[in-house]
Amino acid sequence: MTFEELPLANPLQRAIRAANYEKPTPIQEKAIPSLLDGKDLLGIAQTGTGKTAAFALPILQRLLDSGKFRSPKTCRALILLPTRELAIQVEECFRLYAKFTAISTACIFGGVSDVSQKRNLMRGIDVLVATPGRLLDLITQKAISLKNLEFFVLDEADRMLDMGFIHDIRKVVSMLPNSRQNLFFSATMPQNISDLAATILRPNPVRVEVAPQSTPIERIYQELYRIDKRRKGALLKELLCSHEDMKKVLVFTRTKHGADKVVRVLEKAKIKSAAIHGNKSQNRRQEALGNFKTEQIRVLVATDIAARGIDVDDVSHVFNYDLPNEPETFVHRIGRTARAGKDGVAISFCAPDEEEDLRNIEKLTRVKIPEGDQSIYDKLPPPQKETPESEARNNRGRVPKRSGEEVKRSNQENKNQWKKQKGFFKPQKQQEQQEQKTVSTSAIAEDLNHRKIGKNRPGSRARRRMREEAARQAQMEKGLSKN
Ligand code: AMP
Repeated sequence: MTFEELPLANPLQRAIRAANYEKPTPIQEKAIPSLLDGKDLLGIAQTGTGKTAAFALPILQRLLDSGKFRSPKTCRALILLPTRELAIQVEECFRLYAKFTAISTACIFGGVSDVSQKRNLMRGIDVLVATPGRLLDLITQKAISLKNLEFFVLDEADRMLDMGFIHDIRKVVSMLPNSRQNLFFSATMPQNISDLAATILRPNPVRVEVAPQSTPIERIYQELYRIDKRRKGALLKELLCSHEDMKKVLVFTRTKHGADKVVRVLEKAKIKSAAIHGNKSQNRRQEALGNFKTEQIRVLVATDIAARGIDVDDVSHVFNYDLPNEPETFVHRIGRTARAGKDGVAISFCAPDEEEDLRNIEKLTRVKIPEGDQSIYDKLPPPQKETPESEARNNRGRVPKRSGEEVKRSNQENKNQWKKQKGFFKPQKQQEQQEQKTVSTSAIAEDLNHRKIGKNRPGSRARRRMREEAARQAQMEKGLSKN
């Protein structure tokens, strides 16, 4: 099948040609005709299969056909996604396919100011791509209403549930008008996901299932370096400095802290790099990703969670700076290279305590990863002994597990420290003096008592009165004792 054979309007056909799509992917072939007929769709597909175009093109076609117009503060199609990165990516696709039409698109997500998002919604929008939290927020603020919605797409449903969005989804669905076309996509379809799909889709939806376009592992050239944790940075630096062909490099670390550390090492060596992880602001993440896509930076360092669903073409090398605990994650990581018939290289670092992870990976992939160039070890600084601090830091970014008893003791210690700082405990002598004082300064004693027994303390005005009263009494006592 070709795109020309699909009943898509000229502006859409032009956009497809401009995007250099030669022929529809399997999911597009299966989904587009049914969606153009107005049917609901249940899609089991992952990112990378071309599923965005599979739902975007028919939605755009039907929006063009309907002859309706958007009204202020409403949208006609809503695409709900779990993360900001995915929302931005999907909106970019809609914008690309709609660029020769007058259809408007907008993207709303949390973590940034809502001012410009609200401004965009004022005149109404045809296609709104949103994450659930910010959407509900803007609905509450009456910046957007879903009353005119014609198309509803729930994308990455399994991940939505993983991330705890189920209540938000239910809330959004309860606000949708009854007559609408629904599309539901998920990479997996366990019982809870199909139950959710049943509450959203009309009966007998078209079911489309496509296997992910996985990269055959044999096409990826792999290398392994056995190295202690403290010299991984030096090894990465050495490899990057000695191989100019490593142009678009994706480095995976296990922790956010680890990702930042790698960037610091590379920056010192004047290798342009940036990190993306959950602690980075949305703008910083988008900037890093954009710079990586346009090759303004050579290395992008990412944690697995941050890299989820991010689509970057032409990654030349993938580094497993830390080996993942789950072998499936390894397959997913190295599949970022050698895409679309191109070659790719995956280089893995294995520290002594990661040997078991390596064994599991080799077992799953049924590939024995060959060791890399051994002469590189001569160029590295000699191994350093681990200190208890570095051990603790290296402990995969996790604080070592403590027993219940230890946790209790440390909580008590913290509590005591806090009490000491707040003056609940006084040294012995001071306490005796305090006790003497309490006879005369009853107001202060009462205040202290309040604190000790954890009652609400009196307000500041009452405390001031109590202090004044205590001072007056002390003055009187002084006067009496003088006399
Ligand atoms: P998606 O699964 O929607 O995230 O798409 C993955 C990638 O495939 C995106 O970069 C799309 O631009 C690209 N793509 C989608 N449809 C086609 C097609 N028919 N031919 C070539 N590339 C496509």
